[in-house]
Amino acid sequence: MDTDVLVIGAGPAGSVAGSILARHHHRVVMLEAGTFPRFQIGESLLPRSNDILAEAGLLDAVVARGYQAKNAALFLQGAVRERFCFAEVFPGQRTQTFQVPRGDFDQTLATTARQHGVDVRFNQRVEAVAFDAGGALVTASDVETEARTQLRARFVLDCSGYGRVLPRLLALERPSVLTPRVALFTWVEGDERPAGDHEGDIWICIHPRGAWAWIIPFSNGRTSVGLVMEPAVYESVPGCDRDRLFKLLFEDENILQRLRRAVPVLKTVKLQAWSSAVERLHGTGWALTGNAAEFLDPVFSSGVTLALESAARAAALVHRSFSGEPVDWAAEYDGVVLKAVGVFKAFVRSWYAGELQRVLLRADKADAIKRSITAILGGYVLDSNNPFVREPERALAALLKLG
Ligand SMILES: Cc1cc2nc3c(=O)[nH]c(=O)nc-3n(C[C@H](O)[C@H](O)[C@H](O)COP(=O)(O)OP(=O)(O)OC[C@H]3O[C@@H](n4cnc5c(N)ncnc54)[C@H](O)[C@@H]3O)c2cc1C
Repeated sequence: MDTDVLVIGAGPAGSVAGSILARHHHRVVMLEAGTFPRFQIGESLLPRSNDILAEAGLLDAVVARGYQAKNAALFLQGAVRERFCFAEVFPGQRTQTFQVPRGDFDQTLATTARQHGVDVRFNQRVEAVAFDAGGALVTASDVETEARTQLRARFVLDCSGYGRVLPRLLALERPSVLTPRVALFTWVEGDERPAGDHEGDIWICIHPRGAWAWIIPFSNGRTSVGLVMEPAVYESVPGCDRDRLFKLLFEDENILQRLRRAVPVLKTVKLQAWSSAVERLHGTGWALTGNAAEFLDPVFSSGVTLALESAARAAALVHRSFSGEPVDWAAEYDGVVLKAVGVFKAFVRSWYAGELQRVLLRADKADAIKRSITAILGGYVLDSNNPFVREPERALAALLKLG
């Protein structure tokens, strides 16, 4: 064997899984197709992600980068605003997290993973994986020279995110149940931010055209702004993507006020149809984590947190199986990851049905209900004390009945 574990991709899932395994003294090679820093979307973390970064020995390096502290999620529609502050969650849950430019964040994680002993190799695109009784033979090619490398590993963790390497190679892709949408986004400088503890809040603005927008402020003075919409809304506005984005953003009074003096500093990016699903999350000698497994939708900023949750869990199970302990991957991995995804899925569906938006914006929620919702928005989707975790569909239906 050239290595114990071959990790595909050096995004947040790859660095967390690699670090946990290397700290257990397993040999880890992490192959990354790109060179860092590189742009990636997914800039607003949830407090739960800080727990997992700490478990992987990565949190201190993240804190040292001085990212913008995020204390709350603020939902806005016209004059109505409702703030979900992470200080108001359950005992033991974190009350703060970060807004992170992903180029810097992912590089910080990968550099720290290397310090933990992960053999990180950039410019290496994984192209083929063949499994046999002994493990896997992984073929990668150097993106610049096209030179091919083959490595034998006992286990392959697919952390390739949007690359979805094993789902494609093993024909595991399944259609998502969510409707395809379009996102346009950029970074700006010069937005007018709220003061004090509210500066780092994520703003989720419910847009008059049935779309929604995010505003995510960074500590470097830049702010990420994006709009998620039905394809028909995108098509209805003429012009280039930047013109479309700002014309639509400025139809919302809250966004107009905040961005009226701001200037874009990044070419507008368009993404569409990002939701994905797979037939299963593991097989003999492999497991899928993060976006390589399932990705829902950006609305509750759950992507990175779910990527870290699945990566940490997969790494812990690989360690246990290398230590000779029996592992029930279906129950202990697929079951748990799909449970976490399922909680957010219920919230995402209800959001786009227009129901959850109405409830989130109501100011008269009972404290216990607000606390339970805030915990979900904080990424604590595996805490069975929370009714929205135990039975998300039922708890949401009961909430909607209240009016
Ligand atoms: C519009 C939009 C907004 C979003 N906003 C948020 C947000 O605010 N907060 C949030 O938490 N999430 C957000 N997300 C989701 C977030 O982008 C992802 O969930 C997150 O990046 C997943 O992390 P990952 O480690 O699984 O994969 P990735 O971040 O995609 O990293 C995977 C890595 O694998 C590498 N790779 C790919 N293919 C190969 C290959 N063949 N060989 C080697 N390496 C390979 C890639 O280069 C990449 O570096 C958003 C998503 C969208 C679409």
